Amino acid sequence: MKIKKNDNVLVIKGKDKGRQGEVQRVLPGTQKVLIEGVNIVKRHRKAQGMSGADIVEKELPISIANVMLVCTHCQKPSKTSIRVIGDGSKARICKICEEVIE
Ligand SMILES: [Zn+2]
Repeated sequence: MKIKKNDNVLVIKGKDKGRQGEVQRVLPGTQKVLIEGVNIVKRHRKAQGMSGADIVEKELPISIANVMLVCTHCQKPSKTSIRVIGDGSKARICKICEEVIE
């Protein structure tokens, strides 16, 4: 998975195209990510006891193929490459500015 929790991503497909938000959760099994404020659905909740029925808004995860990582340096949605850095760990490199994306 090239997208991690707390990454800033841009939605490039679907009804929320153009929207940007922070990744709240990554679901590696389904290749989906949950993004703050993106893909919000309204759920009607049935009345319980004394309280009336209400509408709950919640985000649903979207496919990782529909988002692009926004570079932390140049602030542009960027394709990334993986580079092994000094200590042997892998870093994501922005293909626009060639900086490491944190
Ligand atoms: Zn960049």
